[in-house]
Parts: sequence; structure tokens; C-alpha cells
Amino acid sequence: MEIEIATIGGYEEVGRQMTAVRAGSDVVVFDMGLNLSQVLIHDNVETEQMHSLDLIDMGAIPDDRVMSDLEGDVQAIVPTHGHLDHIGAISKLAHRYDAPVVATPFTIELVKQQVQSENKFNVGNDLVKMDPGSTMSIGDSGKVELEFVNVTHSIIDAINPVLHTPEGSVVYGLDKRMDHTPVIGDPIDMKRFREIGREGEGVLCYIEDCTNAGHKGRTPSESVARKHLRDVMYSVEDYDGGIVATTFSSHIARVTSLVEFAKDIGRQPVLLGRSMEKYSGTAERLDFVDFPDDLGMYGHRKSVDRTFKRIMKEGKENFLPIVTGHQGEPRAMLTRMGRGETPYELEDGDKVMFSARVIPEPTNEGQRYQSERLLRMQGARIYDDIHVSGHLRQEGHYEMLDALQPQHVIPAHQDLEGFAPYVDLAEGQGYALGRDLHVTRNGNMIQLVE
Ligand SMILES: [Zn+2]
Repeated sequence: MEIEIATIGGYEEVGRQMTAVRAGSDVVVFDMGLNLSQVLIHDNVETEQMHSLDLIDMGAIPDDRVMSDLEGDVQAIVPTHGHLDHIGAISKLAHRYDAPVVATPFTIELVKQQVQSENKFNVGNDLVKMDPGSTMSIGDSGKVELEFVNVTHSIIDAINPVLHTPEGSVVYGLDKRMDHTPVIGDPIDMKRFREIGREGEGVLCYIEDCTNAGHKGRTPSESVARKHLRDVMYSVEDYDGGIVATTFSSHIARVTSLVEFAKDIGRQPVLLGRSMEKYSGTAERLDFVDFPDDLGMYGHRKSVDRTFKRIMKEGKENFLPIVTGHQGEPRAMLTRMGRGETPYELEDGDKVMFSARVIPEPTNEGQRYQSERLLRMQGARIYDDIHVSGHLRQEGHYEMLDALQPQHVIPAHQDLEGFAPYVDLAEGQGYALGRDLHVTRNGNMIQLVE
């Protein structure tokens, strides 16, 4: 059976991930993501109104025109998890394929919300839920199967999809860290990865997220970030002024820890900002978390401002607002607080907790700098980097290669500079560039079996 890989997006950047695998006449697409920084750099761009070709020209979504060179039928579109760089282009591209979107329940729910807010296209693809650990047959040959292996990442319900073919498995490894003690959900299923590496024809190809390949050692577990956060929160238990926290809205485990520790130090947590309400509300509705009954979640400007007024009236010392804006996004809640645009008044000595790290990218770094300066000018004390990454470091990459023993490796989820440390690591394991280690760019085809 012919096996061909199309590296469509996310091979020159972090963002707009999209990869297609053809096994005989069946094609499966992994991820259809958005490069948000290419959108935010333009003022007032409303992607909901925009046409796909304009977004492709902007570099915001994958240029999937290369798909017409793949001789086969798309049987499934498979986003690995709910981050925008993996699902954000589904509303712009999926309707061109006569295939269902197949993903875990939380991811499917986020895809559904995105498709519903799309104004330009009518995306009618079936949305099919599949749990981690499950499999489904692909196409009519009876020879190709899709499996979801449970992984751990900075969002719940993440998987690595595996396409089993007669020529071996293709393992799509975006995005994960090796967490054996996650705060929510099951640990990463390393046992299954080791089995896949040994059964049948073994692993034909492994496509890997190289984000942290330049970092030595191992990425700590979410339980380490939780301990760090507890230490910081308990240290300010006696402070009788304002404390505000921010983190990734989609990071449900972290939001849960913040809510819990707020209660521990005698404060009422409240989630503020549109995406806070969206992700936490969805996780609660789907029973991934059990928040306290009195936890308020407010997304609309008016209800947010009303809540801030209530906090000021009843006393800042009684509340912990958990808000959007950890990257200094200009329209996010924390940035608005820094500019003094909300009824919440920061005073000398008030604490601001960033349970996040700045994404190392010039736009983010600049915006975050500005936001922090504004907060400091009002007297706020900043607690930074209360965080662990969601991506593998070197020893995790080594362990994955050791478990899977892939014949071919394709580095992904980075630019050329980001691929370099992974190439070094893989060469150390006996792979050779141009032979079985394929550094590639957006829009290329790699034929593995002819
Ligand atoms: Zn991710």
C-alpha cells in the first residue's frame, strides 16, 4: 500500500497545524489550525467574516491547495486537541471535504462552538466523538484503522492519533508532555505507545512536536505547577487587599487549581472574560470538572463590569478574580484592568499572579511587557511564571523514539531554527537527515512507501 504524507501547515511556524496521511486511496487529515499571531497583528480583523483564500494569504490558516495532489479521498479530519492552532481553521476549510471531524468529546464541543460562530461558510461536516483508547476503521479496504492514544497536554482530552496501515503505523505526535500525575484525567498511555512500537510492522513514521526540543531534561508534571501555585497562593493568605490571577482559559486543570486555592485562603473565586466563561463552562457541562456551585463565570462586558463593581463594594480582600490576559492581549481583561478601564481599582501592594509563561514570540513579549508595566504603574506586585509547559523536552523526545522505534521521523510544530535541536537529538539516535529524518516545509509531499 502506498503511504504518503503531506506536510501542509505548521512546518514553518508554531500555528496553523495541518498534516494529511494517504494510505492507499484513503486520506486522513490531522489538525486544521489557525496561526493566531498572523491575525492579531492586523487591527480589528474579524476572522468570522473572512474568506479562506484571504486567510491563507495572511498566513493565518494552512494552504490546503496541495491536497489536490493527493490521490485519495479524505475519510476523516482529526484534530488532536482543542487549542486554536489545531482546530482554528476547521470552520474555514472543513466544508471542502466530504468527511466527518473525529475527535474526543471536549475537542468536538469546542469545534462545534467554533463552527456555530462562523459567518462566511456553512460547515456541515458530521462531528463524531471518539474516546481516548478507541479505534475506528477508515475507508472500505478494511486494512486501515484510526486509534486515539491518551496523552497529557495543557488542555484536557488530548490524544495522539495513530493510523494503522499494512505498512506499519503512522503516529501523529502533536502536542503532549509525559505526565504520570496529571491534575485532571488519565496519565499519558506510554504502555500503548510501547506496544505500538513492537506490534505488526512497527511504526513506519512518527511526526513529532519539536516545541521544547532545545530544553534539557524532562517537562515537569502539572502536579508540580499545582504545588508551585499553592505555595504562592498560601504565601499571600494574610494579605488584605486585591489579588488577581490569570492563566490560559483553556487550561482547565490550572483554572481548577486556582479556584480551589482561592477557597483555601478564604477568597471567593470568580472567572471573568469571554474565553474563561467559554472553556470552563464547556468543561463543567461535559462533567470534566466539578466547580463549586457558587463559582461565577462571566463573559459579557456588562456582567463583568457589574461583578467588578460588586467586588469593589463588598471588599477586594474577599475575592480572587481569575481573568484573561496572561499574554498581555490588548483586549483581554487583565490588560483592561491595567489601563484602568474596569471598575476594579488596583492599589499599592495588590498581587497579580501570572500562572503562565510568555510565549516566546515578539508580539506576545511586547504586549506582555506593556501590560505588566501598566499594572506596576498602579502599584501591583507581579508573581510570574507559575507554570509548566505542555510540551516534551529532550528526555521526553528520547523516550518517545525509544518506545516507538519509528522507521521515519518528521519534525513538526516549529520553524527551521526550532527543528535544529530535534534533528541533533534524532541523529544521536541513529537517524540521518535526508534518509529517514525528514525536515520539511509547508506544502510538501513525502512518499514513504511507493
Ligand atoms: Zn496544544
